[in-house]
Amino acid sequence: MTRISVDEARTLWERGSDEELMRLAGEVRARYHDPDRATYMVMRIINYTNVCVAQCDYCAFYVLPNQSGGYVLSREDVFAKIDELLEFGGDLVGFNGGFNPKLPLDYYCDLFASVRERYGERVEFYALTVAEFVFLADRAKLSYAEAAARLRDAGVHWVTGGGSEILTEDFRARHAKWKYTVADYFDAQRALVEAGLRTTATMVIGFDETLDERLEHLQSTRDFQDETGGLFSFLCWTYKPYGTAFGGREISPQEYRRWIALSRIFLDNVEHIRTSVLTQNEEAFGALDYGADDFDLPIEDEVTQKAGARIELDLEGLLAIPRRLGYEVEYRRAERPAALAG
Ligand code: SF4
Repeated sequence: MTRISVDEARTLWERGSDEELMRLAGEVRARYHDPDRATYMVMRIINYTNVCVAQCDYCAFYVLPNQSGGYVLSREDVFAKIDELLEFGGDLVGFNGGFNPKLPLDYYCDLFASVRERYGERVEFYALTVAEFVFLADRAKLSYAEAAARLRDAGVHWVTGGGSEILTEDFRARHAKWKYTVADYFDAQRALVEAGLRTTATMVIGFDETLDERLEHLQSTRDFQDETGGLFSFLCWTYKPYGTAFGGREISPQEYRRWIALSRIFLDNVEHIRTSVLTQNEEAFGALDYGADDFDLPIEDEVTQKAGARIELDLEGLLAIPRRLGYEVEYRRAERPAALAG
């Protein structure tokens, strides 16, 4: 099967049966992975602050700087959360918070350096999302290259591609006009890759985005990967509407699985396609039959929990589901980027 165009992807989405999507996604998956095997990580999102000035209308997490209820976690709070993650058998932390104007880049570099010093290689962490990285670089009046070098020197290996939601300028104008442009997003991510850091691609579906917008997001992601080769994985999750200004309804698990399949087929240059247990719970594992090969078992993420996500802490119970589907599941440790190894 050769690479498909946006028009072919549109036709497949509109007219392809579930069986056809599963078959084609399985073909692309088999280029990278054993068809009977899936990998996973146990992880925790640490939401270090909920103070944010971006005001995305799909977010139930943030408070403005002058509102009550804002917090910034102390270093001891962060360490306690990481210690608890280790007790659960996990080793991946994702730091994710708001655009807090009171926290300068130095705060982050000190925090990340202290985590690296305390835990060494026992814990890997996604230091920021690309969205937060753009905000911090701008606040520090640094180029993206300079800001990326500061993070790398603080012991950071990964900046995840979060905060992308739907990467079209129209979507951002409708829902997140204070966040950044799509061009900013990819410029920043390119600088991170050039600095030797690893990164990932993400996408969130189920707002009011059009099919054309979803396809534009996939096309930009594939183009970026052709250009840089810097994307380790693609994770798609679903919008949780509860408590948000935008509201709306959740999409069905079937629509999610079909989109995972189309993403697997279209993103033929990305090794890992990840399914979201955080937002799809038990239903997420069905996406392994639609081309996904990897998933997280999260023990906390306040951002999505505030908007209605339910976290299940019976990890063995969760792992029994893909096993019942016929998959051998294996723990995957986060890789250190080759450029930083040694
Ligand atoms: S989604 Fe992130 S950037 Fe947007 S308001 Fe919420 S915390 Fe802020």
